[in-house]
Amino acid sequence: QHVQQITVLGATGSIGTSTLDVISQHPERYQVFALTAHSRIAELQALCLRHRPRFAVVADAAQGQRLQSDLRSAGVKTEVLSGAQGLCAVAAHPEVDAVMAAIVGAAGLESAMAAVTAGKKILLANKEALVMSGALFMRAVHEHGAQLLPIDSEHNAIFQCLPCNYAEGLAPLGVRRILLTASGGPFRNSSYAELEKVTPAQACAHPNWSMGQKISVDSATMMNKGLELIEACWLFAARPEQIEVVIHPQSVIHSLVDYVDGSMLAQLGNPDMRTPIAHAMAWPERIASGVAPLDLCALARMDFIAPDLQRFACLRLAIEAAQAGGATPIVLNAANEVAVAAFLQERIGFTQIPQLIEDVLNSAVVSQAQNLPEVFAVDQLARQHANVWLNKQSVNVGVGS
Ligand code: NDP
Ligand code: MG
Repeated sequence: QHVQQITVLGATGSIGTSTLDVISQHPERYQVFALTAHSRIAELQALCLRHRPRFAVVADAAQGQRLQSDLRSAGVKTEVLSGAQGLCAVAAHPEVDAVMAAIVGAAGLESAMAAVTAGKKILLANKEALVMSGALFMRAVHEHGAQLLPIDSEHNAIFQCLPCNYAEGLAPLGVRRILLTASGGPFRNSSYAELEKVTPAQACAHPNWSMGQKISVDSATMMNKGLELIEACWLFAARPEQIEVVIHPQSVIHSLVDYVDGSMLAQLGNPDMRTPIAHAMAWPERIASGVAPLDLCALARMDFIAPDLQRFACLRLAIEAAQAGGATPIVLNAANEVAVAAFLQERIGFTQIPQLIEDVLNSAVVSQAQNLPEVFAVDQLARQHANVWLNKQSVNVGVGS
C-alpha cells in the first residue's frame, strides 16, 4: 500500500494537533509531508523533531532561517519555507496526496485554494474559505478534479448521512431538510444582561469541545453555526431555507438529514474532532481514531431546543447574509474576524460583536466578487469599515468617561 503524504496547514492548532494524533496512529498509511505554523514556532519545531516532515512553513523569512538552523543542528533534514508562497507550495506540491486545511480565518483561503487547483484531496476544516468564496471554491473543485471532504463535525455528519451522489442535487435524493445541530455554546441560557458582561476567558471555555480561540468565541455568539449554514449550502448544493438549526446541548448528534419519507438519518459520536478527521482521511474506508465509543446509557438523554435569534443576533445576521448571497458573506466573515479579535483584546464587549457586524454589513458597498483578488478586495474593505467602527467606539468611550 502507498503511504499517503499529508500536508497539515495550521499544524500547531487544535485541528492540526488532532490530525497529527490520527496520523501517528497509522504510520503504515500516512506520513507527514509538510507542517505549517504562524506564531507558535517553538511548537512547530517540536512537531518537526517528532514527525520529520520534508517541509515546514512559517510566516516570515527571518523566523524561517532561525528555525532552519535549529533543525539542522538537531539533525533534522526538514526544509523551511516562509510566507503565503511557502503555504501554497506545500499545499500544491506534486508529491502530496492530501491536504488538511486547518488555518483559521481568511488567512487559510489562499492555501486551501492552491490545494484545490492542484487537484488534491482536501480535508477542509477552514470553513471561512467556503463562506468567503464558496462559488469559486466549488467550481475549482470540479474543474480540477479535487476531492473535497468536510472536517467540520456537522458537515462530516451530513456527508455520512447522504448518498455519495449528493453533488447532483438534494431534491432527486429525496432530501427534505438538513438539520444542523448546535451546542448553543457556554451562554445558551444566559440573559442579554448577562451576555453584556461576558469575558474572553468565559467565552473561550466551551462546555463540550476544546478548540482554538476564534472558533470558541464564534460558538459562544453562535456565529459559528451561521458560518456553518453557509458552508453547508456550498458543500451540499442546498438553499438556506433547506437548512434548519437546532440546539442540542449534549453535542452527541453531530447533524441530521431529513428525507421525504419521514426518515431522519443522524451521525452520533463523542465530541472529539479525531472522529471526523479519521473519517475524512480514510474515506471510503474506516480507521480507528482513538475516540472511545459513545456510552448511551451514561448519556441517558438528548435535548433539542429552537435557537433564539434575538439573543444570538450573529446567527440571524449569518442567515440573512446566506440569503443575500453575492459578496455579503465575505463582509460578514471579515467584520466577524475583526470583532472577535477586538473582543479578545477587550476593546469591545460580547454583545457589541453583532452590533459591529450589522453596522459594517449596512455600510459596506457590496457587489459580486468574481475571482480571488476581488474576494480579498471586499474582505479588506469590510475590515476597513470595521476598524473605523472600532475607532469611533473608542472615541465615544473617551468622551463618556
Ligand atoms: P487554532 O487557533 O487552534 O489553530 C489555527 C492554526 O492556524 C494554527 O496552526 C495557527 O498557527 C495557524 N494560523 C493562524 N493565523 C494564521 C495566519 N495568518 N497564517 C497562517 N497560519 C495561521 O484554530 P482551530 O484548529 O480551532 O481551527 C482551525 C480551523 O478549523 C478554523 O477555520 C475553524 O473554524 C475550523 N474548525 C475547528 C474546529 C475545532 O474543533 N477546533 C471544529 C471545526 C472547524 P499558530 O498557532 O502557530 O499561530
Ligand atoms: Mg462545527
